[in-house]
Amino acid sequence: MSQTINFEYYCYRCGTKNGLTLQCPSAPEYHQTKLHCQNCSDETQVLVSHCPSCSRFVYWIDDMSIPDLVSGFARYMVHSMQTMIDKAAMQGATIGIDTPDKYPINATCPCGEKFVIEMPIPDLD
Ligand SMILES: [Zn+2]
Ligand SMILES: [Zn+2]
Repeated sequence: MSQTINFEYYCYRCGTKNGLTLQCPSAPEYHQTKLHCQNCSDETQVLVSHCPSCSRFVYWIDDMSIPDLVSGFARYMVHSMQTMIDKAAMQGATIGIDTPDKYPINATCPCGEKFVIEMPIPDLD
């Protein structure tokens, strides 16, 4: 179920209060978007997800895109695993690895509900 929320935040750079309407699907779905300060046009990333059991939502604000972090991390992991697999192959061993396609991020709502947001990990093959 997708819904909209009224989101307000204070710009990290100039302190201006910004308000906007965002899509906010229920966890484990999420919505990620860029915010531009209406005063200084400072750009930041926000990720929102709706609590599955109440009317509140959780959010993360960061200069970096969290999905990009996850995807960068996944790339790094896959690269290190490949090195390990190559080494094992040289020693005659075989390693089977299941790479997950979702990266879970734990969240706690002010209502006490704990839930998980699932970030898709891009297919890196
Ligand atoms: Zn600003
Ligand atoms: Zn809640």
